[in-house]
Amino acid sequence: MPLLVMKFGGTSVATLDRIRRAAKRVGREVANGYDVIVIVSAMSGKTNELVGWVRETAPMFDAREYDAVVSSGEQVTAGLMALTLQEMDVPARSWQGWQVPLKTTSAHGAARIVDIPTDNLTEKFNDGMKVAVVAGFQGIGDDGRVTTLGRGGSDTTAVAFAAAFGADRCDIYTDVDGVYTTDPRIVRKARKLDRIAFEEMLELASLGAKVLQTRSVELAMRYKVKLRVLSSFEDNDENAGTLVCAEEDIVESNVVAGVAYSRDEAKVTLISVADRPGIAAAIFGPLSEAGVNVDMIVQNISEEGRTDMTFSCPVDEVTRAEAAVQAAKDAGHINYHDLVADEGVAKVSIVGIGMRSHAGVAAQMFKALSDEGINIKVITTSEIKVSVLIDRKYMELAVQALHDVFGLERAA
Ligand code: ASP
Ligand code: MG
Repeated sequence: MPLLVMKFGGTSVATLDRIRRAAKRVGREVANGYDVIVIVSAMSGKTNELVGWVRETAPMFDAREYDAVVSSGEQVTAGLMALTLQEMDVPARSWQGWQVPLKTTSAHGAARIVDIPTDNLTEKFNDGMKVAVVAGFQGIGDDGRVTTLGRGGSDTTAVAFAAAFGADRCDIYTDVDGVYTTDPRIVRKARKLDRIAFEEMLELASLGAKVLQTRSVELAMRYKVKLRVLSSFEDNDENAGTLVCAEEDIVESNVVAGVAYSRDEAKVTLISVADRPGIAAAIFGPLSEAGVNVDMIVQNISEEGRTDMTFSCPVDEVTRAEAAVQAAKDAGHINYHDLVADEGVAKVSIVGIGMRSHAGVAAQMFKALSDEGINIKVITTSEIKVSVLIDRKYMELAVQALHDVFGLERAA
């Protein structure tokens, strides 16, 4: 039997009525001749509530108990979805992560999937089960305890099942009807993309486009899973939503596929650091140990053996970053005159595989920003991306200007 994976996010299972609507979609695919693995999130808001309860109970919580609590939201929706399907006379049952078993590392709260043996579900499919409803986001660690995969992890569950079972497709049902050229709340002319390459989606996902968990896109790219993002609130035809696929499957595309932003960034500069071998390691080692997610890094040219070192990180990690470098300074591992943190910056990026073969894209970006009088503070580039750090108050303006200048409202 051909097999589909259908994943329903929190807003798509937020009420019993919505679960019924989602179940009808599943029923239609069964009628089309598919066996279906349904992956469900918790009802929207539920996971936040559970996380809140854990934090309130124990600020320095045991991560294993965090997982025990936080994984429960998916257990509820999996059972309800299976019941709803049964009421519609579709043979279905629910599975928790450990029952499959979806095996993970024991990094509680951020576990990685290690293996998904297919025999249990396959046996049931062979016995006439049409739908396996699997609780997303959770698994069992090599310590034998329930684990969770990090926020947004049900996307990754879905892609991992699609890869393990060789599914024809992995459909991610969500509250938006696809992946857009940028956030439609900022740019009204933002356009839904019919297709986007894995690598582009990966950049957009990690840049803060919150449609898919980054890890799920990595997995889809590695295992060539056809991933479709579509709305659970609309009637979808064959071509609905956005297909995230291999570059070869995209015929025409704009040089720049999308504009992404990340609002709450900070820029931290260590002024007058001794410029010697090992200095970057001495600074960024402690930052990484402190769990600071350093993004951009710039080292200035040095004068008389001293240099300035600038990096960016999320605004709410600045305090931790300051403490980490201060500790390294106190221990005599590094030496700097001053630390300056600018907490009022945002990152804006353009992404597109077309940049590989087109020169001058970065220059065009800088010109567009300069035409708006926006000052660029830090620049980084990769093969398919250019990112700039700018004052947060100009973020929306920058996104709009870039969307315009690269003509993203029109398809190529
Ligand atoms: N319920 C989990 C969360 O809110 C996992 C998911 O929905 O993907 O992060
Ligand atoms: Mg999500």
